[in-house]
Amino acid sequence: MKFMKSDTTPAEKVMDPVCGMRFKPEKAAATVEYRGKTIHFCTKACRKQFERDPTLYVTRHPSR
Ligand SMILES: [Zn+2]
Repeated sequence: MKFMKSDTTPAEKVMDPVCGMRFKPEKAAATVEYRGKTIHFCTKACRKQFERDPTLYVTRHPSR
């Protein structure tokens, strides 16, 4: 068996929906629970902005 493991694993990263920054979850400065999901933010300011109007940042797939 062969594993090509590197320390850059994109799947581990989360995206801040406010500014679009990608980072590892443990680097998040703030998180919020929204609709059963944990959303990560790079700064508390981003979380504040999200909380003002979450629907702006959560992209929902159309049902059709
Ligand atoms: Zn941010």
